[in-house]
Amino acid sequence: MANQEPTDPSHALFDLFVGAKTCRDVQQHFSALCVQLQVDPKDYRVFYSKLKERLNYWKAKALWVKIDKRASHKDYQQRKACAKNKCLVLGAGPCGLRAAVELALLGAQVLVVEKRASFSRNNVLHLWPYTIYDLRGLGAKKLYGRFCTGTLDHISIRQLQLILLKVALVLGVEVLTAVEFQGLEEPSGNKGWTAKLHPNPHPTLVFEFDVFISAGGGSFLPDGFKHKELRGKLAIGITANFTNRHTAAEAQVAEISGVARIYNQKFFHDLLTQTGIDLENIVYYKDDTHYFVMTAKKKSLLKKGVIKQDYSDAEQLLARENVDHDALWRYAYEAANFSTNRQLPDLEFATNPAGRPDVAMFDFTCMHRAEHASLVRERRGKKLLMGLVGDSLVEPFWPLGTGIARGFFAAFDTAWMVRSWGLGIPYLKVLAERESVYQLLSQTTPENTNKNYTSYSIDPTTRYRHVNLSAIQVHQVQQLYDVNDKS
Ligand code: FAD
Repeated sequence: MANQEPTDPSHALFDLFVGAKTCRDVQQHFSALCVQLQVDPKDYRVFYSKLKERLNYWKAKALWVKIDKRASHKDYQQRKACAKNKCLVLGAGPCGLRAAVELALLGAQVLVVEKRASFSRNNVLHLWPYTIYDLRGLGAKKLYGRFCTGTLDHISIRQLQLILLKVALVLGVEVLTAVEFQGLEEPSGNKGWTAKLHPNPHPTLVFEFDVFISAGGGSFLPDGFKHKELRGKLAIGITANFTNRHTAAEAQVAEISGVARIYNQKFFHDLLTQTGIDLENIVYYKDDTHYFVMTAKKKSLLKKGVIKQDYSDAEQLLARENVDHDALWRYAYEAANFSTNRQLPDLEFATNPAGRPDVAMFDFTCMHRAEHASLVRERRGKKLLMGLVGDSLVEPFWPLGTGIARGFFAAFDTAWMVRSWGLGIPYLKVLAERESVYQLLSQTTPENTNKNYTSYSIDPTTRYRHVNLSAIQVHQVQQLYDVNDKS
């Protein structure tokens, strides 16, 4: 059955949608499928059930089984918990999309805006066991056959975005790409909260919302939120991607799931003596690309000419004009080659969207963490619930691979907050509970979170082992309610 070409055009379109490898193709095949089946995604309340009803195809049914199982969880109240809410999600990174999926499962109308036109990040994310379980439950394996095959516990950022985009679309989420969020517009006249978008996708039809979720990544913070700086000792991260031709010889080379200096002194000593490269740690994942992430010592970067001049200020040190890119490529190449015992044949850089070798250097010396995760703004009697998820909330240290695991936790916690909002729980209580849960996020590890993944839901008590939902009291979050009645 699996090898038969479908004769029904909608089946063929579904196959194209599932197999699409770029953001644009996903969107185009999805639109064509909707036209073919005469289902309108704008009809978000009934879209998924109509799609299911009209697409009687065994491959699609396998996906519906997964999604139905997820959607039947009591927390979603048959997709009615947030039936009256409209949510704007900023950013179609993995965390924005993961949050959007949950909001759609709660029954909200969801619009995602993403300023990039394509998903192009080759870099690979480490997945904690629960994230694999979670994604499988959303049908990841049906949407990307190679998802976490065997012992693999990672995925490229791009591929994860594609999976989540497909799930989001199926659930009736509207996703606008190449559209930049430029700020919130306060209510005026009869109009509620809206956003300034560029270019304006709906000049005549304005999307009003009562929930705004910001998932704009590490460098984006909406008005009203503040970042705390966590300054550690100098930490310079380098990522490098090489073409994976998926040959038998490449398959033989073992991954390095994380080797740190304290655990393998000999490896780092040999690396230094043989190549002059001095690292704190290195990770190698074989994914769509051969992906390496390492933390390099400043002295060796200076010695190898990667950094031209020494500065005590990390920003100045790693400023574009102070980095010799050819030397950086050589550094990353040698480190990758040495750490894989020179067994990867014809090591060749994969390219980034600019067509250059996909190698980058990042400063992890100063990490950001939002001071709080939520806030409510009120103007002209109209309240807006705002929340942060993903890197915008807590910036991860990539070599430790905490980004997606904590990012998804925050997406679930945020969905739980929106659920409480939708159910009419007093807003200060909603904020107090969200901030209580947020206190735990930065300490979560695979070891100190609940191991029973089957019980996981958006309810924080199913995931955090010792969570006190009233750790922060209502009177402590008064400042997170921003009201200006004079406006
Ligand atoms: P992101 O994935 O950063 O997504 C944010 C999205 O918001 C982006 O698509 C951005 O275009 C969009 N956006 C921002 N501002 C606006 C706006 N005004 N309007 C509309 N859209 C907007 N993690 C690792 O573990 N290993 C890595 O090697 C690694 N490499 C990375 C490389 C880069 C270049 C970046 C940006 C991140 C990397 N990360 C890496 C971090 C990892 O991608 C994140 O932890 C993970 O993607 C979760 O992020 P997120 O969804 O919160 O944000």
